[in-house]
Amino acid sequence: MNSLGIYISVPFCRAKCTYCNFASGVSSVKAHEQYVARVGEEIRSLRQRLGGAAIPELVDSIYLGGGTPSVLSPALVGELAHTLRQEFALSPGAEITLECAPGQLDDPALQAMLAFGVNRISFGVQSLVDREAAATGRFHTREVVLRDLERVRSAGLRRLSIDLIAGMPHQTAASWQESLAVLAGTGVEHASIYMLEIDEDSRLGRELLAGGSRYHAQTVPSEELTADLYESAVTALEAHGLHQYEISNFARGGSESRHNLKYWRRQPYLGFGLDAHSMVHAGSGAALRFSTTDVLAEYLRGDQVKNVRQLGPGEELEEAWFLGLRLRAGVAWQALAAEFGSDQVENFLPLVRELRQLELLTDDEGVVRLTRRGLLFSNDVFARFLEVGEQELQMQ
Ligand code: SF4
Repeated sequence: MNSLGIYISVPFCRAKCTYCNFASGVSSVKAHEQYVARVGEEIRSLRQRLGGAAIPELVDSIYLGGGTPSVLSPALVGELAHTLRQEFALSPGAEITLECAPGQLDDPALQAMLAFGVNRISFGVQSLVDREAAATGRFHTREVVLRDLERVRSAGLRRLSIDLIAGMPHQTAASWQESLAVLAGTGVEHASIYMLEIDEDSRLGRELLAGGSRYHAQTVPSEELTADLYESAVTALEAHGLHQYEISNFARGGSESRHNLKYWRRQPYLGFGLDAHSMVHAGSGAALRFSTTDVLAEYLRGDQVKNVRQLGPGEELEEAWFLGLRLRAGVAWQALAAEFGSDQVENFLPLVRELRQLELLTDDEGVVRLTRRGLLFSNDVFARFLEVGEQELQMQ
């Protein structure tokens, strides 16, 4: 059986970034305490709540995300670690990642995280050009980022990652190259590149949709330029030895995020805390997905798990396509046929043929992958796979 991944959501931040569309915010220390107590209850009651589901015994990845988990006091970090150790067996060499905002990991917090077992840090940098970071409400400068990398390296941490966002206010092709060059110069072994999401769930997104100029919205690059920035990042990072292994993720060989790979490989993981998602297998072997509420007051009241859904084979096949295609390793026809049966898998042949003609997919030596163009239009490609899956389900 696969090992388990655990995600803990810590939805607290020092301030809300203008582009942020996550369920996170600024809260009191009292709320932090209530929250960690609630997460503890959620973890302890898990086996009883999930009944006959198959939960792997051994945990080989933990991801502390959010939010900014380092805003928790060392005592609360210790409480979380204690609860996890009581309920799960951690495999030797497990990957334990902390998501961290630069400048917000003071020495006591770093020590608490090391005691927790953190051996990998993912820094949410977003831009290494100070004006761009400041325009979105980030507190750090490039100097702070470089200093933090030094500090955590001195503390023995080697597995480091930097996130950047293409499409930040004031960003230009030249300033983007500057961010990428500084990132490459840090020697980190992993990077994530996202394109700015423009939606109703962030202040900047709403302003952009309304055509306004608050939050430096008028300086946000066009969608076309943002797509060019993303493409240039793929080329630049590859040239620096950070190979693309997923649409948004790049790593030196062997430094891929073990935890995040579980999401795309459909391996079991449990999420605890606000707006956390889980996937384990029911006793029958079918995938069981569920999530928690994204409303903090509801979560603190104990209204935890919702949207429990057991997937049918057709839905699992759809997921195998659109999650697998996110990976540059692609989707192998033979592996799909072994899992779902040739007849089911062949229903997707006409679509793959059509998307190949549109130069969105390749299909070489039995493996289907997104092309460089397909990477940019991946959501449209995935929607087409869902359409075929739904047609098949209706015909059954
Ligand atoms: S630090 Fe991260 S989670 Fe917190 S507001 Fe900024 S982007 Fe959102």
